[in-house]
Amino acid sequence: MSEILRRQFLAHVGQTSPSPMLVEVERAEGSFFYTPEGKRYYDLVAGVSVSNVGHANPAVVRAVQEQAARYMHVMVYGELVETPQVAYAAKLAEWLPGAIDSVYFVNSGAEAVEGALKLAKRYTGRTEMISMRRAYHGSTHGAMSMMGAPEGEEWKGAFRPLLPDVRAIEFNDFDALADITTRTACVLAEPVQGEAGVRPPVPGYLEALRRRCDEVGALLVFDEIQTGMGRTGTMFAACKYGVEPDIVCLAKALGGGMPLGAFAARKEVMDALQTRPVLGHITTFGGHPVCCAAGLAAMNFLIERDVVRQVESKGALYEALLSDHPQVRGIRRAGLLLAVELGESDKLYRIMELFKEAGILSDWFLYCDTAFRISPPLTVSEEEVRDSARIIRACLDRL
Ligand code: PLP
Repeated sequence: MSEILRRQFLAHVGQTSPSPMLVEVERAEGSFFYTPEGKRYYDLVAGVSVSNVGHANPAVVRAVQEQAARYMHVMVYGELVETPQVAYAAKLAEWLPGAIDSVYFVNSGAEAVEGALKLAKRYTGRTEMISMRRAYHGSTHGAMSMMGAPEGEEWKGAFRPLLPDVRAIEFNDFDALADITTRTACVLAEPVQGEAGVRPPVPGYLEALRRRCDEVGALLVFDEIQTGMGRTGTMFAACKYGVEPDIVCLAKALGGGMPLGAFAARKEVMDALQTRPVLGHITTFGGHPVCCAAGLAAMNFLIERDVVRQVESKGALYEALLSDHPQVRGIRRAGLLLAVELGESDKLYRIMELFKEAGILSDWFLYCDTAFRISPPLTVSEEEVRDSARIIRACLDRL
């Protein structure tokens, strides 16, 4: 998380020392970044699931350079036909779950969530919105309103009043689905909860959530900002679990390392933003042509190199190489998104210092202060998985 959140977190768990991760980056390539002194770090965070195609991926760098030379910003999103936006939207529509075929580009994850919430209200004519406890959807007012209490309260409390008519239910709790009613405009859920410390859905839960939304006419919105673009072993986690949402929010890896977000839906749903008012969501830089060119190059790289199909085995390899260490209390995983549970926040804080020394960049989770994150670029090689796991084990030995 950001430095501000990290410091808040440290204060919260009684640690007053500065972040252990203030390391200067000179350059980054593939699975690594390097300091000005030439020290190499394994990047096991990938910018929080952003750098899925590896740092300085030549295909992405080329696309950025070529598009920057052709044109950068021309006009507010949607006014002119800008080829990189159209080409990328068409490619996404081929891969998005089910009948989702309409993509609205924005700047960030939080803006994608804002767009999705507004769309759900307009389409259903309802106002109640339901999120999941321990969910993180971004830091703008609307997205923050959907930060699932009670853990989110630490951040939300200082900024009230936020959106009215918002409530949070427990993820993976079948009984709580009864709280979704004919008053509900939408339910916003991450198919695998990220900042809760990697919590995959229990079998049947997402299907039951889908059924309940259908029963009461609420839209199901998947936040795939962290899980999208191959992270969990399929292009989108919705495909992995076989559940089709009404709206999908994307960002992070969507831009191939450039800032880009999107919310996507069936055209019939998306059309609700076109009238009364005519411009339901306006964004100047949303779908920036350079970001769309970069994102399309990254997605093509994932497809052409068959990167996504190898995600599951690499994630399973990390799990196999680490799970028997006596300090490890368990590993929660979806593809190459892993939370390695140490059981105590003091140990977590200590391991971060050891990682820093040993040349590993890891991170913890916003709502889980006992586990560290492994979410490297999806291009990480098997040899790099083995080598980084060996370094991690050596650090665990010193705990
Ligand atoms: N949704 C999820 C699941 C996230 O993990 C994040 C960021 O960490 C966001 C939304 C917000 O994205 P952004 O920081 O681009 O606004």
